[in-house]
Amino acid sequence: MAVTSLSEGLVDELRGICGHDYVFTGRSARFNRARVPAPFPVHRWDEFVPDAVVLPRAAEQVSEVVKLANRHRVPIVPRAGGTGLTDGAVPLNGGILVDVKLMNEIKDIDLVDRTVTVGPGINMLKLNEELRRHGVIYPDNPASYPCSLVGGRIGTSGWSLIGGRYGHTRDLVISFQIVLPTGEIIEVGDGGGRKVRKSSTGFQLKHLFMGHQGTLGIVTEATLELVPRPEAEFSAFFAYPDYDTAWRSTGALAKSGIATLAGVVLFDERKLAYLRRDDEAYIPQPPEVRSVVATAMYGNADEVRVGAKRLMRIGVETGGNYLGDEISHGDWAARHDRYATPLHGRLRSGQVVPMSWHCEDAAIPYSALPKVREEWHAIADSLMERFEMFDDWGMFAYTNGPYKPWGDYLTEIDIGIWEMQWDDESWAAWVQAKKDISAVALRYGGSITACHGASREGEVDLVPDELGGGWEVMKKVKKALDPHNVMNPGKYLLDEAYEEGES
Ligand SMILES: Cc1cc2nc3c(=O)[nH]c(=O)nc-3n(C[C@H](O)[C@H](O)[C@H](O)COP(=O)(O)OP(=O)(O)OC[C@H]3O[C@@H](n4cnc5c(N)ncnc54)[C@H](O)[C@@H]3O)c2cc1C
Repeated sequence: MAVTSLSEGLVDELRGICGHDYVFTGRSARFNRARVPAPFPVHRWDEFVPDAVVLPRAAEQVSEVVKLANRHRVPIVPRAGGTGLTDGAVPLNGGILVDVKLMNEIKDIDLVDRTVTVGPGINMLKLNEELRRHGVIYPDNPASYPCSLVGGRIGTSGWSLIGGRYGHTRDLVISFQIVLPTGEIIEVGDGGGRKVRKSSTGFQLKHLFMGHQGTLGIVTEATLELVPRPEAEFSAFFAYPDYDTAWRSTGALAKSGIATLAGVVLFDERKLAYLRRDDEAYIPQPPEVRSVVATAMYGNADEVRVGAKRLMRIGVETGGNYLGDEISHGDWAARHDRYATPLHGRLRSGQVVPMSWHCEDAAIPYSALPKVREEWHAIADSLMERFEMFDDWGMFAYTNGPYKPWGDYLTEIDIGIWEMQWDDESWAAWVQAKKDISAVALRYGGSITACHGASREGEVDLVPDELGGGWEVMKKVKKALDPHNVMNPGKYLLDEAYEEGES
């Protein structure tokens, strides 16, 4: 039986637009599209459920659904893979959820101008399976490579594990088609031509319509960058007796200027303890190993060979012990599996219980990493002292700059949470801890998020502090483009734009 608070007439209109078989109002279709892998207040699940789910197959259908939502003043929420870690695809006020998964076509592979045009519902794994045959790839490579989709990558302005060499999502998406909150379909990119990489005509709108967490429209098609399929991949892992030596070595490796370098990652002692304990893909190191640095390179075989020689020399000269080929290659190869860690973890008393994974993902200047690490672990310790359900799974810092992998680092603290234990008290403590973590990032000249976005409870409260005058502009843009606040309302505190007195 259908359970929905939308009128039967409205649901019929949705069926008229998308087709009878592509509109769902049953419980499982709706509840399944509320959940995300970030810590989720399961004790309040039914507050976040959409009233209806639609699976459109064309931009015109999306446009008609958005116009309908405006006429009826009903919220509308875009959803792609549902792997976002900042609740972007979670409906906060019910309404119509637009699931773009069926818009997964590869429409045009252009090997001459080096682009591929796709629907927003395709994932990078499937796309590259096809592209590889042509000697090219689309190098957006998050840890969620097999499960996040192009639409969500644009909605979050995602971050790639090999971004130091190939850039991140914003660098790799050349242009896209988007349905605005009032239903118009427009193209944005670097200039008018779909395949132009750099233009100075007008505002740089492509960037405005990336990373907005579905609050400024729904992407219905995207034209993406193709790069030659790399001939060679090289990864090297180094071990260190302490964090400070590893941190200095990380800086030296990242600043080496090696053109094929795709990323450098610094793991701290608590991260190693977690890996030793809970990660079956990890080959345990002896206890004197307190920190590990991982590096990866991609490119033509002759360039990678020369770069690898230099990289190995720097790693060893700065105090690193090469961990050998098996660990270096095996661990790097596991990078897409590593962070999907549900049902891992333990209580501090030693008992193993199912825990799900949470991560913070601030951008932190290199110079501030040691201090931020201390303060973040102290926040996690305080949570663990008060509640048995939390566990500190350690930190890593990963070169963040596209093409110039030095300067600031995507810095994560991973926290295990026994989610079945949530209640209002622990949830409130958690939200406060997230605020505290974000405040530390800002105090050290960082950004709350390099990767996932910052629209969850807790961190979102500090977004106005981070953006200053830019926050006022954000509200004006939102209200101008979405006069009825139908497009993913409640996110990023943007409802403030519609409060009395806001102009
Ligand atoms: C195990 C794991 C590892 C991860 N590793 C990384 C990583 O390395 N790098 C990284 O950047 N992220 C990572 N993430 C986070 C997540 O995968 C990314 O944020 C990803 O970009 C989300 O894509 P999605 O398709 O799942 O989007 P969803 O979660 O469905 O949506 C994300 C946001 O985009 C909006 N959106 C969805 N589709 C559209 C559309 N068509 N038009 C406009 N807005 C839209 C949604 O409303 C939402 O606000 C990881 C997540 C997990 C679970």
